[in-house]
Amino acid sequence: MRGISPVSDPAEAELIVVNTCAFVGDAVAESVDVIGELSEYKQNGRCNTLAVCGCLPARFRTAGRAGTGGVDLWLRPAPAKKVVERILGAASSSRNRAGRAAGAPPARANSLSAGAAYLKVADGCSRRCSFCLIPRLRGPLRSRAIGELVREAEQLAAMGVKEIVLVAQDLASWGQDIPGRPGLWRLLDGLAGVDGVRWIRMMYLFPRRPPLRLLGLFERHENILPYFDVPLQHADARVLRRMRRGGGPAAHEKFIRAIRERVPGAVIRTTFMVGFPGEDERAFGTLMKFVERVRFERMGAFVFSPEEGTDAAGLSGGIDLALARERLGMLMELQAGIALEYHRSLVGGVIDVLVESAGRGRSTGRAWNQAPEVDGETVIEGRAEAGEIVKARVTGCGPYHLEVVPVESTGRGRRRRAPEGR
Ligand code: SF4
Repeated sequence: MRGISPVSDPAEAELIVVNTCAFVGDAVAESVDVIGELSEYKQNGRCNTLAVCGCLPARFRTAGRAGTGGVDLWLRPAPAKKVVERILGAASSSRNRAGRAAGAPPARANSLSAGAAYLKVADGCSRRCSFCLIPRLRGPLRSRAIGELVREAEQLAAMGVKEIVLVAQDLASWGQDIPGRPGLWRLLDGLAGVDGVRWIRMMYLFPRRPPLRLLGLFERHENILPYFDVPLQHADARVLRRMRRGGGPAAHEKFIRAIRERVPGAVIRTTFMVGFPGEDERAFGTLMKFVERVRFERMGAFVFSPEEGTDAAGLSGGIDLALARERLGMLMELQAGIALEYHRSLVGGVIDVLVESAGRGRSTGRAWNQAPEVDGETVIEGRAEAGEIVKARVTGCGPYHLEVVPVESTGRGRRRRAPEGR
């Protein structure tokens, strides 16, 4: 960003920008805590300006209403250019106050670990799930153009990024709001041609009318990971209707079958919500049986939170929180066994691993089948270089981690090839 250079220690920062999430109560609490912690640097560090953007300002008109203090800029969601201008204005007055100029900036900062970066391809959502505040907080879907995204991917590759993680609130709908309504596969076709990008990972594929044309991409491009993050939320037809998710359990299962048939070795991740109003014993039993039958390699789950301003907050048939938490425990226990069984099937084989943090005799990273921040980690015995992709033999595992020993580094070349370990 013009006139700004990032620092890794907030005590060194003159301007601190907090990009917040606020779509459920836990996220609000976490955002407020982080702002509170960072505001201390105005007293104990070099910080002159603390800016907050993202969903928290969208949900609460003022910092005071959100329960945060010490904030100088409270930025409601707006086109990125406008937000950047306001931040640059704040940065410039921050520099003036400090009486010195910031150094030359990099073109694009990276908030993920070595070798990987998120690429935000769209913002907002035009769906209307009854439990979700995001359409109200972020507005309707706004996709970024292919050319702009390909240029950003090229920039990231030039910085040494090997894995690009595509994110949006509703990735499957990318392109539906721009002329010609290009499908997501068009964007993937463009990004797959960027030299140096070894892994492209898709996050948040909404399951209603799933883009089946995506399944043909894996034959054409070896650097698109056969990793499908499909948040299903539930498996009971009545609960799904009340959630306004569309589709239904039969359609969901059909999509999963199509992935498994057409993309051998695919890894499927999903997310479920328990304790939604109307989730009686029978509905919860349906969910448990579905999980047992489908056997997702990866799964996350959380308890329904009635957020003010959502339709779901006013629904009848609320579930006691203690019961919802008990159900969450049962579901996660079932999944832990399934995840362990999957990991055990990999032991003895070779898998591609991105090294995220290198240590003397032990490093950590992620295998291609582990998405950042949600799928656990891979422990690498022996020397490895952060930011490189290595081939490694799987020697052990738990439900949420793999243990590997490198057999060969594959990260220096810029060639693309299918990930090992499918
Ligand atoms: S698709 Fe996702 S972001 Fe959009 S309304 Fe539903 S849960 Fe919210």
